Amino acid sequence: MNYPKRLIEVDLPIKRISAHARREKSIRHGHISTLHIWWARRPLAACRAVICAALWPDPAQEDCPPKFRADASAIMARFYNPIGRTDLDFYDPMALRKALLDFIADFSNWDNSTDQRYLETARALTESAHAALGGAPGTRPLVVDPFAGGGSIPLEALRVGADAFASDLNPVAVLLNKVVLEYIPKYGQTLADEVRKWGEWIKIEAEKELGQFYPKDPDGATPIAYLWARTVACEGPGCGAEVPLMRSLWLAKKSRRSVALKFIPDREKKQVDFEIIHDFKAQDVSEGTMRRGSATCPVCGYTTPVASVRKQLKARRGGAADARLFCVVTTKPGQQGRFYRLPTERDLEAVRNAAAELERRKAAHTGELSLVPDESLPPQGALGFRVQLYGMMEWGNLFTPRQALALTTLASLVREAGRRLSAEHDAGMAEAVQTCLAMAVDRQSAGKYADIIISMEYDRRKN
Ligand SMILES: [Zn+2]
Repeated sequence: MNYPKRLIEVDLPIKRISAHARREKSIRHGHISTLHIWWARRPLAACRAVICAALWPDPAQEDCPPKFRADASAIMARFYNPIGRTDLDFYDPMALRKALLDFIADFSNWDNSTDQRYLETARALTESAHAALGGAPGTRPLVVDPFAGGGSIPLEALRVGADAFASDLNPVAVLLNKVVLEYIPKYGQTLADEVRKWGEWIKIEAEKELGQFYPKDPDGATPIAYLWARTVACEGPGCGAEVPLMRSLWLAKKSRRSVALKFIPDREKKQVDFEIIHDFKAQDVSEGTMRRGSATCPVCGYTTPVASVRKQLKARRGGAADARLFCVVTTKPGQQGRFYRLPTERDLEAVRNAAAELERRKAAHTGELSLVPDESLPPQGALGFRVQLYGMMEWGNLFTPRQALALTTLASLVREAGRRLSAEHDAGMAEAVQTCLAMAVDRQSAGKYADIIISMEYDRRKN
């Protein structure tokens, strides 16, 4: 048998597929991208289309196995003419090719990806192509993805009726693929129900343990974010003021409700205080202190150069542990929007208590691994890691003590949930639920705390 060209070698409706791929980016519910962060996620639309077009021969080629051409004609006629309309002749190979390419374009639409008619049609075509091309009876074609990343290609291979092999060098990718390709298909709705149930349990337990470190305001407002700035000491002659490292003083930039900060430099005490301003013109908002890594002092105006800023932060392991809390963002019951206020002694006390509690837990902690991860970060420059320039050498240095307290609390609750789950379920199921819960904790930390200048505190709304 001569090699029969696959559809992808002849034509592909790229414009229509791309439109579906673009739209997919805004899908928030039910898409695997919501499971966990992954860099360079491939759109499912494009993967689905490419896999179909690579598995199915082009019926208009002379070398196309006649069995596939005959099957595809019947399958396409059934799909497009379910009520027996006869105006489309799928026994014309060119018309059949067009029908298959149209099908691929329409199937790449997110809305059709779980439609039973599309799924059955795609799987029938894959099965026929595999048999016609010499696949052993009862087997399915194997799609191999050695660097599967977020898992789009193997997931789509399974969807269109192929078997999939996925691997990756990155352990996070391997775990993501395990959840998407093994746990979810194997445990289905039970997995979803258990994740929801134990997620709720973790939320309640975490509130009990952490609530005191995130106190509500006396007026009933709930802090949803704490804005911190790392600081350096101004190296201006005779100054030494604490300079908060901030790129911008804007808090909210909306046409109706803009909020910004104003520096109140105290030349006597050599310190910077803040005021929150509401009614102002855009030009009234001053620049931040940071520009290209150097820091300009609001007290004396001296600019401490980037090399000194790095040196100072390096000596303090990045300075997350003694950063300056400059603003608390809150929501109020029955009121729309976010509110901004300056920190109070109560806020600072909660932060100090959290740091003390973390130290207490670190000392009491037993186990092979440290409570807060003390493994080295990847070498500088690897995977875009540049925080080592600022003295953050271990994973744990990326977090403020309160962030570390919150994340380690969540992590240990996930482990406890796993222990309790194994009493109720078989080991595989318990592991699957625990893994999904761990990914939910990861979503709290991944990406969010990487900003080396202003770090956002742990966001309790999402827990
Ligand atoms: Zn100064």
